[in-house]
Amino acid sequence: MHTPALDAAAVATMRTITTAAEDLRAIREQWGDLLAAIDTPPATEWPPREYRTVDMQAAARDHDADPVIGRMPLILREHPAPANLDALDAALSVERALFELADRIAEQAQRPAVDQDDRDDPARWHLPTHNASVTARAASPGSRAYGLHWAAVWIEGRILGEQHGDLFQPVPLRTLDEAAATVRRARATVERALQRDGRTTELTEPCPWCGDTLTGHTRRGGEPYVTCDRGEACGAPVILDGRRRTWRGAELVGLWAAMHAARERAEADAA
Ligand SMILES: [Zn+2]
Repeated sequence: MHTPALDAAAVATMRTITTAAEDLRAIREQWGDLLAAIDTPPATEWPPREYRTVDMQAAARDHDADPVIGRMPLILREHPAPANLDALDAALSVERALFELADRIAEQAQRPAVDQDDRDDPARWHLPTHNASVTARAASPGSRAYGLHWAAVWIEGRILGEQHGDLFQPVPLRTLDEAAATVRRARATVERALQRDGRTTELTEPCPWCGDTLTGHTRRGGEPYVTCDRGEACGAPVILDGRRRTWRGAELVGLWAAMHAARERAEADAA
């Protein structure tokens, strides 16, 4: 029998799950950038410095292929002298939110261990144990020791309902909604800290071709681009998009080069 109300609920749940999985992947893909940002003084210029590579998609692929970018492990460490406190605060709050979410899901959807082999199953999420003075047992970070990347992968598996023998039950709907809200906020926190949350910024240097104001745009989850405010009259060698000259992707490199050349000319004229 066809039950439209049930179908609508199922569609809504599917949408919640898909969006949450996308948010988790976005967090993982940008986590290395956020850790790198902690050691980098905040950029006051546009765009965020990590965008200044020609092939951003290759960088994104590298993130996914390997949990290590260059020599930097994707584990949040103690930072005795963080250069960017906003980035550190963002990383700490995102890490805490995802760890606590994984703990909650494990409590609700993970079968208790029956023996040591079962306990050692690498698919299992281990809750942290707290220092109990009575037993003098040392506190253990549990699965948190493996960092945010693993927590995000593990949570994604649970909300997508991936099976692993009989280790996991479906995540209760209410917890699914909580999880979706938590990862949405966490993604927004990461993207705000990296200045990828859809802001526009007036660039400090004018258009090298017409001298008008340039505006930088970042979009959530998308590539940054720059537009010239003069409109169609600007003679810059890039396409018109919505009646404005627009630089995207590799064209941004050409724009930086032209801005740099214009700056050098201005300095030479002044000398
Ligand atoms: Zn222009």
